[in-house]
Amino acid sequence: MSSNYARGHRARGACDRCGNNYLLNTLVQESVQGRLKGNRVCPDCYDPDHPQNWQGTVPLRDPQALRFARTVPPEQPVPVYPPASPPPYFQGNGNTEPMGP
Ligand SMILES: [Zn+2]
Repeated sequence: MSSNYARGHRARGACDRCGNNYLLNTLVQESVQGRLKGNRVCPDCYDPDHPQNWQGTVPLRDPQALRFARTVPPEQPVPVYPPASPPPYFQGNGNTEPMGP
């Protein structure tokens, strides 16, 4: 199949970003959201299409509300009992000898 354009395998072209000369078939087109920008840049200047450029194009569902939400009754407080009386030999200063009368 013939084309209307020559192959140009030795043709050179300038990068649209840095201006350096490269082989024409090494220059690539950049794209944003999959659409070609129409420029030709060298492999060093090539900036691939970033995934953040695709934000908002994919519908996201992240529901937060519950359909049949109910409140939970508050927990009953735990009854507080009086603390157990310390043993008679406990004096609180590290002495574990029984208290003598
Ligand atoms: Zn360049």
